[in-house]
Amino acid sequence: MSAVLRPGSTLGILGGGQLGRYMAIAAQQRGYRIAVLDPEPDAPAHQVAHQAIVAPYDDPEALERLASLCQVVTFEFENVPASSLAPFARRGVAIRPGPRVLAICQDRIAEKTLIGSCGIETAPWHPIHGENDLEPALAALGGAGILKTARSGYDGKGQARVETVSAAREAYARFGSVDCVLEGIVPFALECSVLAARDVHGVCATHPVCENAHSRHILDVTVCPARVGEAAARAMRGHTARLAEELEYVGHLAVEFFVLPDGRVVVNEIAPRPHNSGHLTLDAAANSQFEQHVRCVLGWPVARYEQTAPAAAMANLLGDGWAAGEPRWESLTEFPEVRLHLYGKAQARPGRKMGHLTAMADSVEQAESLVREARRALFG
Ligand code: AMP
Repeated sequence: MSAVLRPGSTLGILGGGQLGRYMAIAAQQRGYRIAVLDPEPDAPAHQVAHQAIVAPYDDPEALERLASLCQVVTFEFENVPASSLAPFARRGVAIRPGPRVLAICQDRIAEKTLIGSCGIETAPWHPIHGENDLEPALAALGGAGILKTARSGYDGKGQARVETVSAAREAYARFGSVDCVLEGIVPFALECSVLAARDVHGVCATHPVCENAHSRHILDVTVCPARVGEAAARAMRGHTARLAEELEYVGHLAVEFFVLPDGRVVVNEIAPRPHNSGHLTLDAAANSQFEQHVRCVLGWPVARYEQTAPAAAMANLLGDGWAAGEPRWESLTEFPEVRLHLYGKAQARPGRKMGHLTAMADSVEQAESLVREARRALFG
């Protein structure tokens, strides 16, 4: 147990959104102190941190300060500049997951190359380093594809579906002619994710497969267990554990998959952190994704990760629901089995994740209709 960081030590978190907030709460429950760096003064994790450092992620003084406060540092988003990790490395602060994970997962080209090297399928893809790469790549993909910036994309940002060379050129120029990948369009039957945590001893636990429905490129509803066959579920959990191993991962990650109509599975992307689809583990798992993450990064062994109900569902509450004013909170009194989570964000904006609802039931259909009905009642 010598790897365990003593309670009372400080965990540093780069990023103060809802993922950081739940990490902070989970670590505090185990007696740790929390220091958060985020440029927003009222960021969700700042509200619950012992030390809130309000500064940009590349502010050298702020990074030195955080590095001087904490014994372990983690992050809640993968676009942390690699140079921001230098002060931690210099002071011997453990960075978990490590810099190599960040370097790979913030670059779609490096990530897809690693996935392919493990013999795991992705959508067919081509690296785009210049405008001249577009035409042959589009032709090789049969004339249609999705252009994605290699770096800094999320929730469909930095992505465009293109069906002609001129549309591809236009999108590439709009993205600033940065490195991209052109992916084939996967005719998927279902989108899924596998949540997993791996500890400092290399032991990995995977959660039953989640099934995800998106709306306008943003996760809308997750149900678990996913409605997929045994073999597909086993493959997805196996691929996730394999990728965690290959990355020498410490902490929680999620791997997003497309499931094809014939049951074949291909990886979409790796999220090196807790994941929106894992929010249902706050209420429906033996240990939440945030507990698993902080256990692993603080040196504790990974814990059991099974679901504690036959079925669970989660529905996101986006800022769009606030367009006509405050949601009708009192309507939730009609749904005693639905749990409300809010992240403490004062400003609601379209597409902004404000909170979520979860429900547990005997079937995924029941759990899903509970969260959907409760959300309809809230937003009316
Ligand atoms: P991403 O940001 O890469 O997770 O993409 C956001 C969403 O766009 C995915 O969840 C899918 O719904 C869709 N998408 C992304 N890539 C592909 C693809 N190659 N084929 C079909 N749909 C895709």
